[in-house]
Amino acid sequence: MRSPYAHAWLPLARGALSVVGGRRLTILIYHRVHRETDALFPGIPDARRFDEEMAWLGKMLRVLPLSEAIEMHHERRLPPRAGAITFDDGYADNADVALPILKRHRLHATFFVASGFLDGGRMWNDTIIESVRRAPGTMLDFTDLGLGKLSIATPQQRRSSIDALIRDAKYLTQGQRDERVRAIAARACATLPTNLMMRSDQVRTMHRAGMEIGAHTVTHPILARLEWQEAQAEIAGGRMALESLLGAKVTLFAYPNGKPGVDYGAEHVKIVRDLGFSAALSTRAAPVDDASDRYELPRFTPWGTSCPRFAADLLRTHVGHRLHAKVRSAGRDAY
Ligand SMILES: [Zn+2]
Repeated sequence: MRSPYAHAWLPLARGALSVVGGRRLTILIYHRVHRETDALFPGIPDARRFDEEMAWLGKMLRVLPLSEAIEMHHERRLPPRAGAITFDDGYADNADVALPILKRHRLHATFFVASGFLDGGRMWNDTIIESVRRAPGTMLDFTDLGLGKLSIATPQQRRSSIDALIRDAKYLTQGQRDERVRAIAARACATLPTNLMMRSDQVRTMHRAGMEIGAHTVTHPILARLEWQEAQAEIAGGRMALESLLGAKVTLFAYPNGKPGVDYGAEHVKIVRDLGFSAALSTRAAPVDDASDRYELPRFTPWGTSCPRFAADLLRTHVGHRLHAKVRSAGRDAY
């Protein structure tokens, strides 16, 4: 991340963002921060890279608590280069690895926690990841499950197998998916971890450290695949569990998976609004601007693994959004 040209390009990147970003709000999404680099997921930041990213982010953006930034945006008093940091799902490394780094850099973040996995639970995608990671041998034979034979001789092959299995299972009904994931885990014969997600006391520690906790349902379902009552119970139940754990109000919500029109629809936006949340977050990759719906605020992840690339990703998203907005308004004018 450190560049000998940092003294030159940081003010340049900051100036460019002030110009192209205007008064938009940049909301970043993270999920995990590994203590050490994960050979299967080298793109996920480890502690060292996250530390450098945060040092740099603190200089590039004016990082604000998300609730405060949303209110400032609403009241049109957001400063230039305003940003907010969010984490989804509730991984234990958020408390163990990310929190001390955020505190060191005096940065605020909001953590959207799926309440049903706290204290020893595991998300279905992690059951697939950890099953394939720990499976002995060089091949997994899932022919009878209709998934063929998967090579796992190298880390790259294990990763490709994980990606294929997750892709296949993602949009099954919850029942079908649970059954599939159980079969994969049984076949892989691996002992699976029970400490991937936060414990209740870690959520309280985050909150006491001044971080914000947001709701992210109970079991992280694709809301669009649920009956209305189930979706309502997931959204309300997740918040209720966190509020009773923290003894404080939870006012923000993030849609699981978060793709508008695919993972959730207008009926879920209405549920969130009717339940009295103050705002909700999607995963549509864009900055927040005047046209953004308070209950579907966009977020994105700059994937660059060096500071200049990270800056380039950030700028590209803002520039792309401006061009897109121009095309949209040109289209409107034409009609
Ligand atoms: Zn999530």
